[in-house]
Amino acid sequence: MNRYAEILIDMISNAVDRPFHYRIFPEFSNSIKPGMQVTVPFGSRSCQGYVLRVLDHTPVEKLRDITAVVDPEPLLTAEQLALIHWLAMRYYCRKIDALHALLPASFRRGGSPFKVEVLELVHQACEANLNRAPVQQKAVRLLKEKGPLQRRELIRLGISAAVICSLEKKNLIRKNRVLSIPQRRTTEKKPTTPRLLSEAQAECFNRVCRAIDNPQPQRILLHGITASGKTEIYLQGIARCLELGKTALILVPEISLTPQMIEHFEGRFPGRVAVLHSRIRGAEKNRQWQMILSGEARVVLGARSAIFAPLNDIGLIVIDEEHETTYKQEEAPRYHARDVAWWRARRHRAVLLLGSATPSLESYYQASIGNTQLLSMKERVTPTQLPPVTVVDMRRELKEGHRHIFSRVLLRELEGVLERDEQALLFINRRGFAGFVLCRECGFVVRCPSCDVSMTLHLDSGTMRCHYCGHEQEVPQTCPQCGGHKIRYFSAGTQRVEEEMKKLYPDVSLIRMDSDTTGSRNAHNYFYRHFREGKASILIGTQMIAKGLDFPNVTLVGVVAADTALNLPDFRAPERTFQLITQVAGRTARGPRGGKVIVQTYHPSHYSIRAAAAHDYNAFFEEEIEKRRMLGYPPFADMIRFLFSGEEEETVMAAAAWFTEQLSLLGLPGELLGPAPASLYRIKGFYRIQTILRGDNLVPYAPRIRKIMQEYHSRKPVWPVRLAVDFNPQVVL
Ligand code: ADP
Ligand code: ZN
Repeated sequence: MNRYAEILIDMISNAVDRPFHYRIFPEFSNSIKPGMQVTVPFGSRSCQGYVLRVLDHTPVEKLRDITAVVDPEPLLTAEQLALIHWLAMRYYCRKIDALHALLPASFRRGGSPFKVEVLELVHQACEANLNRAPVQQKAVRLLKEKGPLQRRELIRLGISAAVICSLEKKNLIRKNRVLSIPQRRTTEKKPTTPRLLSEAQAECFNRVCRAIDNPQPQRILLHGITASGKTEIYLQGIARCLELGKTALILVPEISLTPQMIEHFEGRFPGRVAVLHSRIRGAEKNRQWQMILSGEARVVLGARSAIFAPLNDIGLIVIDEEHETTYKQEEAPRYHARDVAWWRARRHRAVLLLGSATPSLESYYQASIGNTQLLSMKERVTPTQLPPVTVVDMRRELKEGHRHIFSRVLLRELEGVLERDEQALLFINRRGFAGFVLCRECGFVVRCPSCDVSMTLHLDSGTMRCHYCGHEQEVPQTCPQCGGHKIRYFSAGTQRVEEEMKKLYPDVSLIRMDSDTTGSRNAHNYFYRHFREGKASILIGTQMIAKGLDFPNVTLVGVVAADTALNLPDFRAPERTFQLITQVAGRTARGPRGGKVIVQTYHPSHYSIRAAAAHDYNAFFEEEIEKRRMLGYPPFADMIRFLFSGEEEETVMAAAAWFTEQLSLLGLPGELLGPAPASLYRIKGFYRIQTILRGDNLVPYAPRIRKIMQEYHSRKPVWPVRLAVDFNPQVVL
């Protein structure tokens, strides 16, 4: 009987984003398994593909044969195959994009790179039959004694290539590929000793252990203020998993994956930690993977994509700083590591431990309705206090004749820091480039009446637009709230802050850290060390520098313009502001000298700023969750963003309009917003137009939405317009 295989073609193209059926050559009939990499004819050429399923029947009539098997062992596990399917459905991506996210490129070029080809005996091979060929006899004896050997090893033992060849012809030996054993790096290092847990830590740790021992998958949110000692709980939780013979996976934001952090984990589990992040490439990446596959590494520490690490028998998955936007991938597959983690935790019946001082609204909401266990730590574990936060009203500064970007309070505090030879951090929001219109006299910002996001200024038309729903209006000449005339475009960047600082203190050494200055591989670590060693007094940067910094000599943190975060044209702007202030505040008062935080804003009464200044997460959550509920934003609805981009404005608009029309015919639950120009309307010559679908539980509609996508991609002539679909985007600009 013939058998068939459903094959995923390894080609990045929407046209081949469906399984193709091939006939399995009878000779392979029993050896082809799901997950194997194979070669198949495709059109006039030959392609790599992956076996998704083996079938006994196929409705397809004209079938071609699988040409070759790249590796006799499946490259993809059953878990990976299931995950590829889930990623493609959930995040509206091509299956091949999902597969590529799961496997390093080196694996796709001809099977696992850790496999070596060996020669082994076929069962019935027997020296007796080779009486008249003593060298062949010797070869068979060697293979019997030593087990499978590589060709060159046999040759070194005195067996010529010709002899090997004739044994193969007689079907006495055959080729096989086996996992090569990595050389064990014996570490003499003694593991660092676990710390004695504080009472609050012990309480949380016990609950984590109980969850690990429980065979049901569980999700726990560890809400612990900065420096409450969450890391120690992760470390001891991991140790518990290892004792039980299980493995553990820990994710941290890319930027906090510093050498210090890595040393911390390797120190506790010497020789057993594999590290994966985007700067680890090539041979080093292969080595880390081999450690995981061979079982040598039972702990994986990494950034977002490490969530795909091929660990077996996972007992614990930790996501530190779970609220971070970097856990969402911004290109296909546009997955959120937290959701993938929960998918894997369920499959492995493991514990998902989410840690943060400022949990995402989504996670805290899940805890508030009992879907996630909530653990909290409200005190610092070190004998230090959270710093006092002073909110400076920039409107008053202006009224009192002080127009500088640094308020008088901030300047006074900075001088104190410099006099005492301490250090200061100054923050600017990274996404400050999306401009908004602000009244400098009363702080008023123009917002969309229906979406409640700030409206974006479009310089070409001279109007303001809501980039969710498309609502458009004139730029006001006077402030609608106070009638003032100082209503204008607002922006502030790190460079500007640096220039102003240099004017004020020409002799003080400064470091500026943002994506421009830390682009190179080791720049971040260099600046980090430089500042830590006290070689600069002031560090100016975007919030990315806030992560994981631990400088005891920092006694002042200034947020130069909280408004850039607060007025992002994004419904998560208040959440980001609260997180930003809380996180940066956590960077000071870590030493015996204490510390202070100064937040400058035109909107001092805003609940995010007030709650952050009071270190009160719950107050913030209560306000924000009510607003989300009223406006129908996540976690009360799902959002799907369809972003169209292309070089010709009209075609982009036409494509977006066609697509939106098709969506509207589906009768989906919820609202269809747009098409509207994206907040960043032109990037590198591409016009960007988006449609947002917002509704309660859109997941069941995925197949119908995908169908429209397929139709969109197969329309002739094909639109010269890219379509990017993002399920529950973290950033909508
Ligand atoms: P978080 O991740 O909650 O912000 P950390 O894990 O960074 O906090 O801990 C803050 C500091 O407290 C670190 O320097 C850590 O080494 C220290 N620490 C953690 N647990 C203990 C403990 N039980 N006893 C003493 N120091 C601790
Ligand atoms: Zn709107």
